[in-house]
Amino acid sequence: MDISEQLFERAKRVLPGGVNSPVRAYRAVGMAPRFITRADGAYIYDEDGKRYIDYVCSWGPMILGHNHPVIREAVERAVKDGLSFGAPTRREVEIAELMIGMVPNIEMVRMVNSGTEAVMSALRLARGATGRDKLIKFEGCYHGHSDCMLVNAGSSALAGGHPSSAGVPVGAARDTLTAQFNDLASVEALLEQNPGQVAAVIVEPVAANMGVVGPAPGFLEGLRALCDKHGSLLIFDEVITGFRLAPGGAQAYFGVRADLVTFGKIIGGGMPVGAYCGSRALLEQVAPCGPVYQAGTLSGNPVAMAAGLAQLTYLREHPEVYEHINAKGAALVEGLRQLVKRTGAPVVINQLGSLLAPFFTPTAVTTFTDAKGSDVAKYARYFQGMLERGVALAPAQFEAMFISEAHTQAELDATLAAAEAVFQTL
Ligand code: PMP
Repeated sequence: MDISEQLFERAKRVLPGGVNSPVRAYRAVGMAPRFITRADGAYIYDEDGKRYIDYVCSWGPMILGHNHPVIREAVERAVKDGLSFGAPTRREVEIAELMIGMVPNIEMVRMVNSGTEAVMSALRLARGATGRDKLIKFEGCYHGHSDCMLVNAGSSALAGGHPSSAGVPVGAARDTLTAQFNDLASVEALLEQNPGQVAAVIVEPVAANMGVVGPAPGFLEGLRALCDKHGSLLIFDEVITGFRLAPGGAQAYFGVRADLVTFGKIIGGGMPVGAYCGSRALLEQVAPCGPVYQAGTLSGNPVAMAAGLAQLTYLREHPEVYEHINAKGAALVEGLRQLVKRTGAPVVINQLGSLLAPFFTPTAVTTFTDAKGSDVAKYARYFQGMLERGVALAPAQFEAMFISEAHTQAELDATLAAAEAVFQTL
């Protein structure tokens, strides 16, 4: 047993499944997880001294690469002044102003500590503001683990074979209606069957917890129009897409306005942060201004804000980051598609900007049903083969691959060389 395997055995005695978040247990790929000691640039390092090109990037936030000096130094400076005050600080104002300047259609920001919390709070606000209880989400989209969102959820809720969860009361799930991603008629039908009852439609503008599936032309525009027609709010869950597709996120990338937007880890530069944002009229319904209660002892934590402020400032000042990561996404997908042609491997690769996902199926993947058609056993073999060759991918099919500013042509070439070898074995 290597050190990671030994640690995993110890971990399983004291942590459920040996982990603090299920996907990390590597169950979907049938092996013990690597225990990580440090990460730098495009690489992570495990307890056994092995180095991997990292395409997980802490599930997205490390858009500038790991251990970026600008962020690390901002954190080091902040730490010297104390870890938490439970009182307002200058940085909270500055990061909110920065976000409002970068993201279209938002006038106010409320900081929380995770994506789950951001979504849970945005949904409460939507329900409070509309006086309606029902919600529409899409099958295979993941919005964190709050009760009402653990209905037909994606990500590891899907990989574990449990489309929802034990412990979610029927009452909490009853008001969550499920539509099909890229199928406007399924949304329209639910809105018509529940007239005047749907508070919000929540969507990942690019579905990135079923692999990566982009919105079909007109899908997001259609959701906007349906929400307007039925008096429902449109919520973009931008935990993955925010500050990644573009400085203004999916709203800017696709040119569609959302009423509420949720962000997660990326606005914390890797620290535990989330936020929900929208118009002044909506956000002023939140406590202490309005009747929708929501609070958090560590919300706006000074160290987390320092990291987030440093990352978002860097992104605003270096818009070329987006050209770079999108070009790398395009180059990687092009290289992989050539390998698929050459090796005859039954793989299709979806890509939007710096988000990618391979599916082990011969046909195009544009819906959740298509995504589920991927041969997950092949994905597991692909993952294992890539890991052996020094490339760390998401340890489950229904996740995205993230490219950062720190990935260079050398890492892309090494990734393609590894993929060529692995494709031949599939
Ligand atoms: N929404 C989306 C779109 C996500 O991908 C995730 C997790 N990656 C969440 C919400 C939940 O975020 P967190 O794990 O920070 O609670």
